[in-house]
This record gives sequence, structure tokens and C-alpha cells, in this order.
Amino acid sequence: MMDVAIIGGGPAALSAALNLKIRNKDFILLGGNEKVTGLMKAPQIDNYLGLKGMSGTELLKGFREHAISMGVEIRKEKAYNILDMGGYFSINTGNEFYEATSIIIATGQGKAKYYEGEKEYLGKGIGYCATCDGPLYRNKSAAIIAENEEGEEEANFLSEICSEVYYIPAYRTEPKLRENIKLLREKVNAIKGDGNRVQSLMTDRRELQVDAVFIIRNIIPVNQLIEGLELDEGSIRVDKNMAASIEGVFACGDCAGKPYQIAKAIGEGNVASLSAVRYIEKKNIDNNVNT
Ligand SMILES: Cc1cc2nc3c(=O)[nH]c(=O)nc-3n(C[C@H](O)[C@H](O)[C@H](O)COP(=O)(O)OP(=O)(O)OC[C@H]3O[C@@H](n4cnc5c(N)ncnc54)[C@H](O)[C@@H]3O)c2cc1C
Repeated sequence: MMDVAIIGGGPAALSAALNLKIRNKDFILLGGNEKVTGLMKAPQIDNYLGLKGMSGTELLKGFREHAISMGVEIRKEKAYNILDMGGYFSINTGNEFYEATSIIIATGQGKAKYYEGEKEYLGKGIGYCATCDGPLYRNKSAAIIAENEEGEEEANFLSEICSEVYYIPAYRTEPKLRENIKLLREKVNAIKGDGNRVQSLMTDRRELQVDAVFIIRNIIPVNQLIEGLELDEGSIRVDKNMAASIEGVFACGDCAGKPYQIAKAIGEGNVASLSAVRYIEKKNIDNNVNT
């Protein structure tokens, strides 16, 4: 059991990781897709003290190198789902499960635009991780809607077990797909069903009869990541210690609300990590007293 699992790979997550390392805590950093952070699109940053005029890419490279030089390992794994096990958390990354006493969420802005039917059929044919839920659809038909290349691996996996796989990319590069996958460059309009299960996917050109739809987004909406998390205008509700509404869960950076700025992300990552340290140490003392 680790002390902390940090979910995210941007400035907030790296700041939290650095401080946990300094405080000698046992933690894992699940950084997801390193190209997803909006910071890489920033041509010039002028409001981060002491490092005027750097590009977002340069700044992020510096943050990562600093963390790595201190012994932080940045894993390129994405957290799909976190379960509150009552006293600790189980984190599902598709291929692995990790356990941690505390969680720091630093996943950036995660306000997804939902497809029509998505909320209604989530868990009833709609999923966010084909590796996790794909085996439920053996010999059935599935569609993958993908915002990035991560969807290709998921589609290739599904093509081994499903009777039919449709791939609908929302990006321009040419996907590397197995021959038996049908590539559709179409706009998704809605996901339909009979009230209990998904039955079809409507695009601007056709209606596809499918049993499952997997949506591979750049960012998983935070309320899908962990059930029961209270939100405030779409961001995670936190107190001044960066504690979220679930005991043992902390949040920092853009996912914890405005202003969306690097300085705030770094500062909140620091506060979240120190709050997590206090939480773990108190829990350890309580456990020792009770044994
Ligand atoms: C074009 C542009 C220009 C900007 N210019 C400025 C500026 O000049 N000054 C300024 O202060 N700010 C600027 N910003 C804002 C700044 O980039 C953000 O405030 C900052 O990056 C927030 O850091 P973060 O760590 O909270 O989130 P992010 O930087 O978004 O990082 C989130 C990370 O979490 C990872 N992640 C997401 N979901 C998961 C998951 N389920 N599992 C594992 N990992 C996951 C992502 O892959 C990503 O690496 C700009 C943003 C943009 C888009």
C-alpha cells in the first residue's frame, strides 16, 4: 500500500510529487499522456515569477527534469477509475490496479462536452476504457470515439475479441489500425439505446448498430474518475488545504478551479502534498493507537 497516488502529469502534479519526495513519502505519479497538458500550447509565459518569456514546452521540460532529478518517476499511465475502499483507494489504470492511502488529483481542466446519450448509458454499454471493459463485449460490435492516439491501442485490442470494431477519430493524423477495424471520419451526433443498453451510434452519415461505445478523451471528467466527488461549477470543490469532499482525496491546479494559471497550480500542488502528508501521518498514529 502506497501513501499517495498522484493523478496527473502537469505543473500541479509535479509540484506535489517534488514535495512528497522531499517528505520521504511512498507515492506513485500517474502522469497519463504527456502531450495532453495545455501548457505545451503556450507560446510564451510572462507571468511565472523568475522565468520570464519561456515557452510552455520549455517550462514543462524544466519542471519534469527537476522532479526526475530528485528521484520522481513519472509513469505514462492514465487513471481510469478510483474506488474508495473505505480507508484506502484502489486506482485502475487499465492494465494495473494500485492501492494508496491518499489521492491527489491534478488532472487539469476536465470539463467534457458530453455526447447525447452518454450520461444515460454510461456503464450500460458506454465506457471510457476498452482494456478494462472490452472483454464484456466478446463477439459483439463496438465503436471507439477517440480524441487522441491512445484510442488506437484500445481499438486494436477490441478487434481481437469483438465481431466488429468501428474507429471514429477526432484528430487528424492517420491512425495505425488492424485491417479488420472500420475507420470512419464522421461526426458523432448521439448514442442511442432502449433505456437499458446501448443499441446504436448516430453519426452525421449513418446509424451504426453497436453493443458498446468507448469514448477515449484527453481527460476523463473528474466526477467519472471517482464517484461522489463534489463539484463547484464543474471543478472539484476544495477547502484551503486542497481537501476535496471525500476524506483522503486532495485536488490541485486547473481541476480545482480558476484562475487557470501555472503559479496557482504549483502552489496548490505544494499545499495538497503537505495536506496529504498530514493526513497519512495522522492515520498512521490512529492505526498505531488502535493496535
Ligand atoms: C494555450 C494556453 C496558454 C496558456 N498560457 C498561460 C500563461 O501564459 N500563464 C499561465 O500561468 N498559464 C497559462 N496557461 C494555463 C496553464 O497551462 C495551466 O493553468 C496549467 O498547465 C495547469 O496545470 P495543471 O497541472 O493543473 O494541469 P495540466 O497542465 O492541464 O496537466 C494535467 C495533466 O494531467 C494528465 N491527466 C489528465 N487526466 C489524467 C488521468 N485520468 N490519469 C493520469 N493523468 C491524467 C494530463 O495528461 C496532463 O499531463 C495556458 C494554457 C493554454 C492552453
